[in-house]
Amino acid sequence: MTAPELRSEWQQAGAPWLAGVRARLAEAVQQERLPHALLFIGQEGAGQAGLAAWTAGLLLCIAGGDEPCGNCADCALLLAGTHPDFHRVGIEEEATAIRVEQIRDLAEALGTRSYRGRRKVAMIDPADEMNINSFNALLKTLEEPPDQTMLLLTASRADRLPATIRSRCSRQQLPLPTSAAALEWLRRQRPRDDWERLLVLAQGAPFLALEHAAAGIADLDTDMDNTVAAGWQAPLDVVGLADSWRADRPELRLRWLELWLAGRLRMASVSSDAVNNNRRSGLPPGHDPTMMATGYRLLDRLREARRRAGGPLNLQLLLEDVLVDLAEWMRRGAWRARSNPSKN
Ligand SMILES: [Zn+2]
Repeated sequence: MTAPELRSEWQQAGAPWLAGVRARLAEAVQQERLPHALLFIGQEGAGQAGLAAWTAGLLLCIAGGDEPCGNCADCALLLAGTHPDFHRVGIEEEATAIRVEQIRDLAEALGTRSYRGRRKVAMIDPADEMNINSFNALLKTLEEPPDQTMLLLTASRADRLPATIRSRCSRQQLPLPTSAAALEWLRRQRPRDDWERLLVLAQGAPFLALEHAAAGIADLDTDMDNTVAAGWQAPLDVVGLADSWRADRPELRLRWLELWLAGRLRMASVSSDAVNNNRRSGLPPGHDPTMMATGYRLLDRLREARRRAGGPLNLQLLLEDVLVDLAEWMRRGAWRARSNPSKN
């Protein structure tokens, strides 16, 4: 983690729609009634990492204000990336999940005394991308937290966290702004004509829309949209698509598919809530009940494929593999009429 990244995460946490969460956190820190583990959860791109990094600043800053001051000795160390009591764990380059060794190293580091004589803060981001061994290793630390230690976890998929982990963390739910507020904020960041479409693709999460704008995902939007629209009508040409995607921004295309699929799944779960009077007890009548489960598995596979796409693997085979699964999922898409009211 380099200094400018942490600074920009603090800036992200300063977004207007996060003001309520920030105020509650600041009050809890000042009154010293913060539980030892917080889970920052929200839709992908809701600002989990930013708010967790900001909270780490709040906990370590010695100024005692309602935000990290940015000037004290501890803030300076944090911003320089050298604070000895701040430990951050994330997915390492070319890895697809947080490794158990990283969690063991973290536990060891937290077991030692605070260097600065105050708190120790650990941030695990994203905590929902760990394997079962990592979760078990983390559970030990959560069950018997060392003195003066705060754990900050981020997640966008609660279903990927074991109940034993969830139940030991205090949940901090991150809200999303209304689309009008999101568009206003995005236009202030950078003038663009297509923020509306980018915001829809990002499921209403402005930070994600901003990230995608920078990555150039809008250039692929029409092409990808046409591809999946055709996929509902006739089976996808798996080999042909893999061949052309391989040569043209494969990671960004996999990212687009992830967002598209996440949107379908979200719509399906919202409509199932409405049908079942807000009880999450399944899909609406007529839907294949396995579609949600297989959809979430496919979402995991897309994410993993995207992470691997930059590595040494055979890209053609990697793309063919996920496209076969996507084609099969779409083939069984008797539910599409309900979950895709507008297009695709
Ligand atoms: Zn400070």
